[in-house]
Amino acid sequence: MNLNSSKKRKLPLLKGDIILIASLCLLIVILFLCSFKGENEKLTAEIYFEGELIKTVALSECTGEEFTVGGCTLLLEKDSVSFTHSDCPDKLCIKRGKLKRKGDTMACVPEKVVAVIKSENKDDFHIATY
Ligand SMILES: [Zn+2]
Repeated sequence: MNLNSSKKRKLPLLKGDIILIASLCLLIVILFLCSFKGENEKLTAEIYFEGELIKTVALSECTGEEFTVGGCTLLLEKDSVSFTHSDCPDKLCIKRGKLKRKGDTMACVPEKVVAVIKSENKDDFHIATY
């Protein structure tokens, strides 16, 4: 009798687990959709030289122009930024390839050039929460 009643008690817990799992799945789907939506965010590239912001460009407006700063040349393409030339010895910045996503950062330490991809929307959000 005791075993039976304990089994009966476990059933509501299981149902609760299923609901929990289902809601977690739903949450994951929502997060996934949000991040997918994030892909269409307006991205901007910020280029710093010697710690100072010297250029901000909207990636959607870039058409493959080159931008030279310090010993580095950056290629500003639609939706990506990459180092195409650098006087630095390691060339790590060139090997990094294209910066495409929000938060992507590449610093050419020897040439003191930093490129950061930011989201315009996210920045607005940050300003609003500060
Ligand atoms: Zn470099």
